Amino acid sequence: MNVLVINSGSSSIKYQLLDMRTETVMCSGAVERIGEAVGSVTHKIAPGGDTEDWISLTQPIADHEEGMHLVIGLITDAKRGVVKSLDEIEAIGHRIVQGGDIFHASCRVDDRVVDELTKLIPLGPVHNPGHLAGIRVSRQLFPQVPQVTVFDTVFHQTMPPRAYMYALPYELYEELKVRRYGFHGTSHAYVTKEAARFLGKPVEEVNLITVHLGNGSSMCAVQNGKSVDTSMGLTPLEGLIMGTRCGDADLAIYPLLGAEKGLSISEINDLTNKQSGFKGICGKNDMRDIHEAVAQGDSRARLALDMFGYRNRKYIGSYLAVLGRVDAIVFTAGIGENDPVARELTCRGLEHLGIKLDHDRNLAPARGARDIAASDSAVRVLVIPTNEELEIARQTVAVLKPS
Ligand code: ADP
Repeated sequence: MNVLVINSGSSSIKYQLLDMRTETVMCSGAVERIGEAVGSVTHKIAPGGDTEDWISLTQPIADHEEGMHLVIGLITDAKRGVVKSLDEIEAIGHRIVQGGDIFHASCRVDDRVVDELTKLIPLGPVHNPGHLAGIRVSRQLFPQVPQVTVFDTVFHQTMPPRAYMYALPYELYEELKVRRYGFHGTSHAYVTKEAARFLGKPVEEVNLITVHLGNGSSMCAVQNGKSVDTSMGLTPLEGLIMGTRCGDADLAIYPLLGAEKGLSISEINDLTNKQSGFKGICGKNDMRDIHEAVAQGDSRARLALDMFGYRNRKYIGSYLAVLGRVDAIVFTAGIGENDPVARELTCRGLEHLGIKLDHDRNLAPARGARDIAASDSAVRVLVIPTNEELEIARQTVAVLKPS
């Protein structure tokens, strides 16, 4: 089955076409800056997963419909297309960030799903409108193709109330569904299964702390293969220190900023989500730039790294307490997979808790799933590359499989 995975945002459509008989990528790309004066399209061809060929276009793209037409044109292009006709696209999987506590599993798209996603916009105002635009256009252009929604929140629906409730007036939960949902669930779910496979254990028996460190970062406490706690909350703002998000911070900062700086709620939201984190501390949000600045003696960049490591260690410590027995710490995503310094900072000083990195294994520029713990470490430390698109395609196939 060929599955088109779509991650539609407010001004972008990222996509990947996968041949699920072999689980290989046929092509992938992104339409960006939809609705702006000049948009862009990048398209990467990988027939059989080998050859790589980039197409880059720059042109105005009015809306998601025009964006999807461009994608379809590239996928079916007479010369460089990876399929001959749209009939060869047999299913579509949509990435959805906020599924609230309505969606407990991936599901086939119908009018009811669209209605529920629309109702969830107050809980996912940044992401869900873009997802809905992608679903609407895909249903128009591919009326015969079954479509599935795969949610970032679903993996964390197994959290118990003691982990997902905020200690705010209970009525806020009842009226507005104010609670912790957690995100990056597709990634945490994928690396949990891959880690179980790597460890040679059934997924129902693994206890893990999965550590997704990218532009957005989150940790998850996984007990017997299921999420029992995670660092992100009502929105992806809570938890770890990220590229531009502050993570955990006292809510009383909000009224202070209102009173002293005259900032509106939307300005404070922008400040905490887009101007904070590494960027807020040292002016840079990309980890590679932060390392470069540290090497040049930038003390703010040094502080940002120290804060990042400290916050990560605090979460690992608390999840060790939540889980009791832990088989492995699992690093994933851009920083987690590629940055030995970030991994070392995250595990530093945790030897007495059974977490001991092997210096050389951590530094080795390897790719693919690997164990970087010292041989005598009680807890394994794994690096497992995440693959959210593959997980979405797998779940799409699973939902559509005749029962
Ligand atoms: P997103 O959350 O956008 O999917 P990614 O998972 O791609 O983000 O992670 C982006 C982060 O990964 C950036 O901070 C980037 O600097 C970092 N990163 C990517 N490659 C490396 C590398 N080789 N060394 C250190 N950091 C890296």
